[in-house]
Order: sequence, then C-alpha cells, then structure tokens
Amino acid sequence: MIPRACVLHPERITDYPGGEELPPALAERFGAWLEERDLPDDLTTVPGHKLGGFMNWCTTDRPDALECGACRAPLELFLQFDTAEWWLGSWGPDGAPHRFRPLEERGREPVDGAEDPAREPVGMTVGRGGHGGLFVCAADPRHPVSFFTQ
Ligand SMILES: [Zn+2]
Repeated sequence: MIPRACVLHPERITDYPGGEELPPALAERFGAWLEERDLPDDLTTVPGHKLGGFMNWCTTDRPDALECGACRAPLELFLQFDTAEWWLGSWGPDGAPHRFRPLEERGREPVDGAEDPAREPVGMTVGRGGHGGLFVCAADPRHPVSFFTQ
C-alpha cells in the first residue's frame, strides 16, 4: 500500500450509507426505488480514495458492533483507501459520465477491461484489489483507530 507520486484533485461529493447501515425497512424501500427505475446503486458508498463518507462492506458484511474499543462510541470512516478510483459499471444509464467518476476523467472514453491505469492513479493495491477504511472514534479522535479491508 505504497502510493505512487500523483496529483490530488479533491472533489466534493455526497456519499450515502449502504443498505447495511440503514434501517431494514428503509433499505428495502431504497432497493425497490432503484429497481423500479432500473438504476444501479450509484448513490451509496462511493468508491475511491476519500475523506469521510461510508464504506462498502461487500466482502464480509458490516461488523455488528462498529464501535470504539476504548469507549464503545460509534466508529466513523475517516479515510478510505481504494485500489481503483471508479469502476466500469459506474456510468449513467444513457452512457453519460457518472458522478463517481472523478471530474478529470469524465471527458475520456472508458477502456474496456480492468487494466485501465486511469482507474488506479495512486497505484495502491488494497488487499486483493479491494478497499480499506481507517475508522476513528466519534467521541474522541485520540482513541485508537481501527482499519478494515474489503
Ligand atoms: Zn472512543
């Protein structure tokens, strides 16, 4: 997980929690809303390197108790590391660039396949090509941090 030298292009986005972090009835309504519109879930757990937001627990499911080991306060995602900044499926239904795709990449055609170097500008491979999150205590950021990979 050693990043290559690159340029940071911060982009402000809105990130929403995934279904695992929503009350079950709301998660079900959200899933039905997407299905009715034939939309992928492109509103939650934005991929890529980011500060804050919500992590996608696609590999292990979210831990039942995501809480600080020192005081039991909730843990919050502080920083996410990701192998890829965006995924090929992250395009709008009409082929328009998707909001997850970094602004500086929206003008270029996507390369078919997983070997597009523009998707991995940082050059870090997290785990086996996934992502990881550094979580901090919501009550006291001086408490020990936790790191989870997916
Ligand atoms: Zn704490």
